[in-house]
Amino acid sequence: MISDTRRANFVRLMAPLATDPPRVDVTLDPSMVETPEVAFRDPALESVWEKVTAGERLDREDGLAILRTLDLPALGRMADLVARRRHGDRVYFTLNRQLNPTNVCVLDCAFCDFAARPRNDPRAYEMGWDEILAHVTDDITEIHIVGGLHPKWGYDKYVEIVRRIREKSPSLTIKAWTAVEIDFFAKIGGKSIEAVLEDMVEAGLDALPGGGAEVFSQRVKEELYPHKIGEREWFAVHDAAHRMGIPTNCTLLYGHIETHEERVDHVLKLREQQDRTGGFQAFIPLEYQTGTTNLVERQASAMEDLRTIAMSRLLFDNVPHVKAYWVMLGEQTAEIALAFGATDLDGTIGDEKIAHMALADSAAGHARETLTRMIRAAGKVPVERDALYREIRIWD
Ligand code: SF4
Repeated sequence: MISDTRRANFVRLMAPLATDPPRVDVTLDPSMVETPEVAFRDPALESVWEKVTAGERLDREDGLAILRTLDLPALGRMADLVARRRHGDRVYFTLNRQLNPTNVCVLDCAFCDFAARPRNDPRAYEMGWDEILAHVTDDITEIHIVGGLHPKWGYDKYVEIVRRIREKSPSLTIKAWTAVEIDFFAKIGGKSIEAVLEDMVEAGLDALPGGGAEVFSQRVKEELYPHKIGEREWFAVHDAAHRMGIPTNCTLLYGHIETHEERVDHVLKLREQQDRTGGFQAFIPLEYQTGTTNLVERQASAMEDLRTIAMSRLLFDNVPHVKAYWVMLGEQTAEIALAFGATDLDGTIGDEKIAHMALADSAAGHARETLTRMIRAAGKVPVERDALYREIRIWD
């Protein structure tokens, strides 16, 4: 039995935007995209290129060859061809704001600089309703909500956050709660994953972000986040969301102790899920920030970032977008990533806390003009979108 509120939310989700902007047809005929000449210095990429030009699916060995190559010019041309076959020269961004209502968390993931322990941690904060709702303003189309797993905030509070934001802004797209949080809500609320998602949609949720996946490796999990949900639970949440018609994103946390093999296997597991349910809108490789956790001596290099972006674009033949998350990559690498298969820059963000508490050195918020300039500088066309990738405007 679907409640009236939930039905109304689904109707809203499926409706054109309130301003009813012109929609852009991004369905391209791949045969219309010219295949470039590529001069290879790395012979290992030549067999990958043969598959790419033939439209064949790449496998694990191909992914590893990509992550090991030094031939970045050839790799960029390969990944860019795949991106252009999907989206032409368009690169997407959004006017959004991140809301991290609390950093108090019952877990203690070894890579996380954001979380504060529930007791006596001077870094701990909890936003009140005024502060939460101040994040909702007329100049954004998307809000992205994630935070810590607070031991004293009950189930209803998390639902209420979504409900009050929806009440303040009926047209905002609300992308909220990682699979880790949804699983936590199910436990504290004594509910099934499906029941939690249903309550959230009824309150006004439109989509889930993709965080919390980290790396699907039992070895890494035991070492860095032994108490966090694992691969099975993460997929259970996204599987349920997709089957309920809720779009989600998916992520990889890379650049710490994971191996190239674990990185590629992670992508292949997500690709299998996408074959089954098709609900991932974007894949977001999240670069580990060394911050104060210092799991490795130095942050991943820009070359490693670009290889990871390209590997993702080339292996994911079924996920629409690979995102260059400028907050973690830094603006310069994110801009170059647009020539390595990335077709989304995230958004203006506002007051981001998670990466910046890990000392990320990108600006804490970017205006639309900055993002459009970055996209144009990469020779691409900026397209403003909402959280569901509905196109709002081409900034040509
Ligand atoms: S990564 Fe998430 S779950 Fe882990 S400690 Fe940080 S806030 Fe908590």
